[in-house]
Amino acid sequence: MRRAGLVVAEGLARMSEAVRPGITTLDLDRIGREVLTAGGATSSFLGYGGFPAVTCISTGSEVVHGIPGGRVLEEGELCSIDFGAVVDGWHGDAAVTVPVGECSAEVLELNRVTRESLWAALRTVRVGGRLSDIGAAVERTVRPHGYGLLDDYTGHGIGRAMHEPPHVPNQAPDGPGKGMALDVGIVLAVEPMATLGGPETSVLADDWTVVTDDGRQAAHWEHTVAVTPDGPWVLTALDGGASEL
Ligand code: MG
Repeated sequence: MRRAGLVVAEGLARMSEAVRPGITTLDLDRIGREVLTAGGATSSFLGYGGFPAVTCISTGSEVVHGIPGGRVLEEGELCSIDFGAVVDGWHGDAAVTVPVGECSAEVLELNRVTRESLWAALRTVRVGGRLSDIGAAVERTVRPHGYGLLDDYTGHGIGRAMHEPPHVPNQAPDGPGKGMALDVGIVLAVEPMATLGGPETSVLADDWTVVTDDGRQAAHWEHTVAVTPDGPWVLTALDGGASEL
């Protein structure tokens, strides 16, 4: 899974560098395809439920599951890139959100806080922890800012399939310390999504793209993380998470 995770990390780095006003979301997906081929990997996403691309790219008021195409990136919006790779049958899955050109301070702060909520959550993925520690960490980071937190979309277990049990909620209504015990060998994809406005979303007529109902912007960050005897190992970070954990 580390090998798949490194392909994902490299792809997200390459695509992030390419983000700028005027590029299309399909241009970014093509970079993802090149990285998969060069890394001896296949796509987790292509063909999943009929999905036609190797990335999900969600811009502006789109939150997740955007389909790459002719959409041109515009200055001032956030662009979420979600990317999955398979190596020798094992999956890696991660997402970053990149500002397109100059963004407002408000939008940049949403993105910073959402990213921080991911790392706060990843720090809890360790022996002795429980599943709800993850959602509690996300909420603790995001709630004070008043952002919307989607409750219909969660992280997930990951391994031989991209989506395995359990669901990994970004909220913990009953607080931390509840749910499945985290033990060595468990691997999860943790992926908080936050919005500048309300948490209500809809799915567009393409049956994939999730957009905010109020049209306000969203951010989405994700990593695949393994529980080891020494703590969390972030399989989709080039440094395994060392610099952020
Ligand atoms: Mg995922």
